[in-house]
Amino acid sequence: MKRLTCEQAVQQFFAYLDRALSAEPLEALEAHMEACLDCCDKLRFSRQLDSFVKTRLPEATLPADLDARIRKALRG
Ligand SMILES: [Zn+2]
Repeated sequence: MKRLTCEQAVQQFFAYLDRALSAEPLEALEAHMEACLDCCDKLRFSRQLDSFVKTRLPEATLPADLDARIRKALRG
């Protein structure tokens, strides 16, 4: 398995918190976390930030027509 650098590990934090990582990158990230206290701290902070953002911005507060507006914008 290839080792992650700290930079690569940090880039995967939000995917990790969203449980969006597949088995292989997940294993690589967890292996990095076990070996790297620095990234452990950063992940703890990211997790707090992530739950903070999610509790402050529940999906229900998004405008109901946002989806339609995005589709329209994408069509040009
Ligand atoms: Zn690290």
